[in-house]
Amino acid sequence: MLMGLQHFETEHNDGKVFIHTECLECGAKKVIIIAEKQYIALYARNAHIQDIIPEVAIQDRELLISGICGPCFDRLVSEDD
Ligand SMILES: [Zn+2]
Repeated sequence: MLMGLQHFETEHNDGKVFIHTECLECGAKKVIIIAEKQYIALYARNAHIQDIIPEVAIQDRELLISGICGPCFDRLVSEDD
């Protein structure tokens, strides 16, 4: 299943893309840096995110998809019990 990605502010520089993420829950900000070609592949949505940016931590990939940071995601999951 291919997921949509949140739209964050980006900065393109020297073949890299700096994605300025902000957690929708707590507002924590984090910059995730990927290659321009990875960024294009992500938004083309024709491959799985883990295959495009395997080097990015799973929490950071989750942040790109859901807009929720690692600690908030863990909290939301544990509240589901
Ligand atoms: Zn958060």
